[in-house]
Amino acid sequence: MNASIIAVGSEMLGPTRVDTNSLKVTALLELFGIPLVRKSIVADSLDELADEITHSLKYSDILITSGGLGPTEDDLTREALVKALGLEVDVDQSIIDKLEQRFAARGWKMPEVNKKQANVFRGHTTLQNERGTAPGFHLDLRGKHVWVFPGVPSELEWMLKTYMEPWLEQVSGGRTRHRRVLKVAGLGESAVEEKLKPYYDAHKGEPLTILASPHGVELHLIFDSQDEIAKRERELLDIFGVRIFGFDDDTLEAVIGRLLIERGETLSTAESCTGGLLSQRITDVAGSSAYFMSGVVSYTADAKVAFAGVDPEIIMTYGEVSEPVAIALARGIRDRFQTTYGVGITGVAGPGGGSDEKPVGTVHIAVARSDYVEHRKLFWPGTRQHVRWFSTQSALDLLRRFILDA
Ligand code: ATP
Ligand code: MG
Repeated sequence: MNASIIAVGSEMLGPTRVDTNSLKVTALLELFGIPLVRKSIVADSLDELADEITHSLKYSDILITSGGLGPTEDDLTREALVKALGLEVDVDQSIIDKLEQRFAARGWKMPEVNKKQANVFRGHTTLQNERGTAPGFHLDLRGKHVWVFPGVPSELEWMLKTYMEPWLEQVSGGRTRHRRVLKVAGLGESAVEEKLKPYYDAHKGEPLTILASPHGVELHLIFDSQDEIAKRERELLDIFGVRIFGFDDDTLEAVIGRLLIERGETLSTAESCTGGLLSQRITDVAGSSAYFMSGVVSYTADAKVAFAGVDPEIIMTYGEVSEPVAIALARGIRDRFQTTYGVGITGVAGPGGGSDEKPVGTVHIAVARSDYVEHRKLFWPGTRQHVRWFSTQSALDLLRRFILDA
């Protein structure tokens, strides 16, 4: 059994958007040992899309499409499937009813064009989409299977997990491969490579993928059995210790949330150069209200005094971007909100505002508890976005290790 993927959408043929959906599909196929033989990106064009469907099905048993199921005129996946496969279309009134309810719940009237989303294929399975308006489809064509999914990544991922994974489990005779991702914080890609030398030497020829991502460096283990994965995982934990902050879909902010909940502890933040990015990341985690009390953006000197209780003398003496100010922010915000921990960040995100003494990319972060405070001075020369992101990344990792006492 093998598979092909078609990503539908002209936007992905331009310079600004890339197809990431196919990677999610490929990762799933890989776990079941199903090779991918073709992957294409096709414009929102009826003839080309129909041709591509026909062509892909010549070479593969499973075809997965994503995108082009929306209500607008350039969403043509349904029409192309009809043209390529000679399907018959029915209108599913229950889908229209559901869509109308969905719009009505927001006080809106359903636009007429949305009715198109109730067109389903006679004799084939329609897949409800709990994450959006476009249903998907599973077409069984005498042994060949076409899975038709929406393009919005979160909807596609939900559908893969809900419909396609259980099906693959059935038809492929179970998983043949297993994947585990270990996530490393506080080390760059090359430092990770260096630490891995003994591991590489001990396991020559074995695949271990290292991927740098904004959320940390990822180590991907893919093996035929869970036992093998567990063995390698233990070895990697020995090498990296506390620097491994999580697994698979973990993020630093989610891991910190779990730690705080376990311990019944709380957190507040005072940010300057990151402008609220840290508190945004912390509150991106569902349930964060259990431990996150407050985050202030104390951007000016006056705001640092007014919102985080920083002594103006400290600012006068050391300047806003300094170790004493980062510590005063962390201590001050902790005091104000009576939380277990306080985090302070102050720095020069650039591109302007740097000096010889404090060049762009200089950032001070601090974490405080009632009896103890830790500080780090960072230097991340890079774009403003870069400086801000990695400041939050470092602050979160410092906080995590502070909580763990590690
Ligand atoms: P909907 O009706 O929910 O809009 P759709 O099936 O019509 O679903 P599209 O209009 O094709 O989906 O795409 C919706 C969004 O998803 C767009 O922002 C698009 O850029 C993004 N998207 C579509 N295909 C992909 C892909 N292969 N990889 C990453 N993003 C994608
Ligand atoms: Mg669309």
